[in-house]
Amino acid sequence: MDAIVALDGAQGEGGGQILRSALSLSMITGRPFTITGIRAGRAKPGLLRQHLTSVRAAAAICSAQVSGDALRSQQLHFVPGRIRGGEYRFAIGSAGSCMLVLQTVLPALWFADKASRVEVQGGTHNPSAPTADFIREVWEPLLAQMGVRQHTTLQRHGFWPAGGGSVVSEVVPMTALRGLTLTARGKTTGLYAEALLAEVPHHVGEREVAALAARLPLTDSRITHLHGGIGPGNILSLLIQSEGLNELLVVFGEKRVSAEAVASRLAAAAQRYLASPAAVGEHLADQLILPMALAGTGAFTVAQASTHLLTNIAVVERFLPVRFACEPDGHGYLVRVMA
Ligand code: ATP
Repeated sequence: MDAIVALDGAQGEGGGQILRSALSLSMITGRPFTITGIRAGRAKPGLLRQHLTSVRAAAAICSAQVSGDALRSQQLHFVPGRIRGGEYRFAIGSAGSCMLVLQTVLPALWFADKASRVEVQGGTHNPSAPTADFIREVWEPLLAQMGVRQHTTLQRHGFWPAGGGSVVSEVVPMTALRGLTLTARGKTTGLYAEALLAEVPHHVGEREVAALAARLPLTDSRITHLHGGIGPGNILSLLIQSEGLNELLVVFGEKRVSAEAVASRLAAAAQRYLASPAAVGEHLADQLILPMALAGTGAFTVAQASTHLLTNIAVVERFLPVRFACEPDGHGYLVRVMA
């Protein structure tokens, strides 16, 4: 058996990403791991429902032996078995993010023996996680360029904190993983805004879109109402299409925050992104590390080297024989897999 990887969950950012990346990499490499101090840097440390579901999902998919898999546990021991494709369904049991559970298990299913369909029930629109749209519009097109065949569909919205949503991903095992170079974003080709409203009045969406249009040259915009007991929830999003890739920025509407303030936050984030020559946004950056490490080659530019990004690199380097360089480059950072 390969040498066990011992991880300190308090390192770097001290969040759930250390655990999720470790689970993905353990499944793929077959290397067991132990982790202590899980999410030690968070206000409520240990395994919350989303993390526990990620552990259980990973264990189910590769028949792992696990100890420490209990709510609020700060230690885990995980010995993976063989990855098996097939039909899986996991329920988080809270508004924890479905996308983060999928982020954990999908990379392993790229290497499975057969095709898979994974359904996760829980939160689909959470403030600190990718939305299904982000996965579909931003991450998956880049994965497709790398040779990954994965397709995610939002079945039912589940806004944090109510949850109750559902997302399905279908994966066909890949033949070879190619590297990806994203050092230039290219020209901006479209700015598409959407105000999503569930049990929130129409005028909120109208004001959000109008205030955003006053700050940015939108290509198109729409207001979408969700019915059927979903919510309450409100999101204003902006899909930025460039020649080289897409970016999706999202701001959540909150009680006591005006529609105009929500639009102004989104406009500021978009203006920061558009003003930077860096190709990749902050969140996409950390989500590219694992596929690039597995491909063994790749590079991108990003405006900021976040703690999240650096922590993810550190975890990946513990499991795989790759090294990343992250160096200042003009107005941002060049992140690359070193030869
Ligand atoms: P926890 O310890 O609570 O699990 P964490 O440290 O894992 O938290 P975050 O740092 O918030 O959680 O990020 C989780 C993942 O979600 C990361 O991959 C991050 O890039 C991604 N993410 C967060 N916000 C967004 C967003 N607005 N759009 C896309 N991805 C996002």
